[in-house]
Amino acid sequence: MQLTQKIRIFPTAEQQEVLWKLSVRCRLLYNFALAERRKTWEKTGKSVSYTKQQNDLPENKEKYPAYRWVYSKVLQMVLKQLDADYKSFFALWKKGDKNARPPKFKGRKYFTTMTYNESGFKVEKGRVAFAHFYNDVPLEFQIPGKFEFDKVYQVSIFKNGDDFYISITYEKTEKPYIDNGLYQAIDLGITKIITAVNIHGKFLEVKNPRPDKYWQPKIEQVQSRRDHCKKGSNRWTCYHKKLTKMQNKCSNQIRDFQHKLSKKLIENTRANTIIIGNLNVKQMAESNGNDKKKDRSLHRAVQNNGYLSCFARFLTYKARLAGKRVIEISEKDTTKTCCVCGKKHDMKMQDRIMGCDCGNELDRDRNSAVNIMMRFLSQNASVDRLLSFKESILRQTGLATASYSQEALTLQGRVVHGTCAVVLVRYVLAYLISFYVA
Ligand SMILES: [Zn+2]
Repeated sequence: MQLTQKIRIFPTAEQQEVLWKLSVRCRLLYNFALAERRKTWEKTGKSVSYTKQQNDLPENKEKYPAYRWVYSKVLQMVLKQLDADYKSFFALWKKGDKNARPPKFKGRKYFTTMTYNESGFKVEKGRVAFAHFYNDVPLEFQIPGKFEFDKVYQVSIFKNGDDFYISITYEKTEKPYIDNGLYQAIDLGITKIITAVNIHGKFLEVKNPRPDKYWQPKIEQVQSRRDHCKKGSNRWTCYHKKLTKMQNKCSNQIRDFQHKLSKKLIENTRANTIIIGNLNVKQMAESNGNDKKKDRSLHRAVQNNGYLSCFARFLTYKARLAGKRVIEISEKDTTKTCCVCGKKHDMKMQDRIMGCDCGNELDRDRNSAVNIMMRFLSQNASVDRLLSFKESILRQTGLATASYSQEALTLQGRVVHGTCAVVLVRYVLAYLISFYVA
């Protein structure tokens, strides 16, 4: 599996100068290539291909020797980036996204991300080095010794705020997956990030610490102060810096928590298969543009969904490394359906408990987790497993006792009525047989 590791580097003043010189060359190349595409489109109505621009590179290097400072593969990657930017713009446009904008020229202060693929870099334990031809200052940086990479595909240098980073894309071997018959179904939510149920009907809940709730008012305050200043003024820049710092801090705290939680969850569960409901972000993002208040809450909901899908991604890749699997199944109606009798209810956001006529009074998220598990079992496992899981849930909810007395049988028969008539028939049969034998 390919993974990417982001590491902060600390270039010296000399190295920073080199990095900026190289970045400027990349930025100008991006802008020139963009201008070429725009002009050709205006004149002839045709687009310029990446291959053509790449083939023109050697000639351009002859004309403008300064481009020779940069390692040739890096320049190719700049053109590839432009090509990718255009492609993603066209893809959005075709989908009907009216807010999609074509790639723009990069300004003077923009640090272009420089990507080295295949060659021109060297990653060893504790050190990373890049090739360039600007002067004799080596672009060599320390990286913490804890990072070890067997096979590196590409390394890019980029800047975030005032700090420089590298990101290393490398290969990591997965453990083979074996289905051990144990499953864990997870319902992802905002207040409780995890509500999980295992095959034995045991629940696990983890609360979300919500650092965004702490930061949001502070961020809004600084944002409003910034917006009252003239854009680009000293005061504006000061507030803007403060704002980015707070936003970064907030998202870092969320990501940190998610990494730790997903790691713990994967390490501590005995189940090799984890089932989650798939999160459909796009479906929620439809805005009507009229109702501002609604739009805002919708925006928040989508943002939260973004956090959750990020968490799902962490879970998926960590599971694969540990020889486990995360399976996404449709989440449709899992919150609305009663997990005991299967009746659908109109559940509002504030309804925290699934109260059903059949006597089921289960927490909303638990109910949803049970439904996810049952949907998965009915599609992928034997009927026996589904029934035994259902039994353990009934026992948990107090709707049925473990003993198979006559009363319990009739009670279970009532509860399971309709969805699982099979179980009743089986018990009656077993009862008759035992009666016959006696
Ligand atoms: Zn019910």
